[in-house]
Amino acid sequence: MEHTKEIVLTGDRPTGCLHLGHYIGSLKNRIDLQNIYEKCYIMVADTQALSDNFNNPGKVIENVVEICKDYLAVGIDPLKSTIFIQSMIPELPELMLYYLNLVTLSRLERNPTVKSELQQREFGMSVPVGFLCYPVSQIADITAFKATIVPVGEDQLPMIELSNEVVRRFNITYNKSVLRESRALLGTTKRLVGIDGKSKASKSLNNAIFLCDSDEDIHDKVYRMFTDPDHIRVSDPGKVEGNVVFAYMDAFYEDREELEALKKHYQEGGLGDSSVKSLLSRSLQKLITPIRERRAEITKNYVMDILIDGTARARKEAAKTLGEVKEAIGIVYTRS
Ligand code: ATP
Ligand code: MG
Repeated sequence: MEHTKEIVLTGDRPTGCLHLGHYIGSLKNRIDLQNIYEKCYIMVADTQALSDNFNNPGKVIENVVEICKDYLAVGIDPLKSTIFIQSMIPELPELMLYYLNLVTLSRLERNPTVKSELQQREFGMSVPVGFLCYPVSQIADITAFKATIVPVGEDQLPMIELSNEVVRRFNITYNKSVLRESRALLGTTKRLVGIDGKSKASKSLNNAIFLCDSDEDIHDKVYRMFTDPDHIRVSDPGKVEGNVVFAYMDAFYEDREELEALKKHYQEGGLGDSSVKSLLSRSLQKLITPIRERRAEITKNYVMDILIDGTARARKEAAKTLGEVKEAIGIVYTRS
């Protein structure tokens, strides 16, 4: 009955330390899911990260270990979750090659997440094909493990939609239900805003609070956050909608009752920005300090053992699926 079981897959690009957007958007779900499902895979997406860092591979390579330290420090258990390195599984790009035939160029260009990322990276007319095609490589990642649950942030929804389209097209074209559809599992906050108020906290925009930030960094970043520009005097009534400090309070402040009272007070007037920032800063420090401390204890040797073992396990699964895919297409040749 293997086929009916839920399988979890996610991943992150190793381009820096993980941040609060990852934590609330996907990491928390992964920690919960590893206690429910037997097969949970977490991919360190180094190949994908090279698609927009091809001229700076060092940044990607050094962050492979760093990101894995983040996983372990937040509570990913390597005995429950298989953590692996994308570039060490050649079956993934091979799968991608077959899927590339099932996606049109215009379909890739329509992807709203890719569109905004292209703008952000200022490729202009020189868009690398590898970057444009990274959603197809994600389809290979998801389907190689027959994943059914993909814990991600909201920006990934177009990728899952495309993945399911390709899964259906593959199964219909080759008349065999080899591949499985998957569904996104969003976090309690679907898309955490950046500290600069931009729609998404992200590594490449450097507008995030990182899980490796010091208490001072956290304090400084919180105090730099935008609030309500019309909330000039403490006595002025303030807006909580579109206010970055309250967006972070909503995502991370534990005492929900107190938060509602704070919002009411702020809206009525009489509550200063710095009072709310002080509460937020302290609560984020409380969350991040133990993660940072656990992280500092983890050695590179330990991380590499986990990654190499995890990759060996993951590769077997990917090879099995690739075999099924090739058989479905009919490209299996033997000596007659
Ligand atoms: P980069 O800028 O290098 O693309 P990133 O900060 O966007 O980095 P990714 O590694 O691309 O992070 O994202 C990995 C996962 O984390 C994805 O599932 C993504 O949806 C989720 N994620 C990233 N940022 C946020 C955010 N601000 N809010 C919610 N989820 C997020
Ligand atoms: Mg991203």
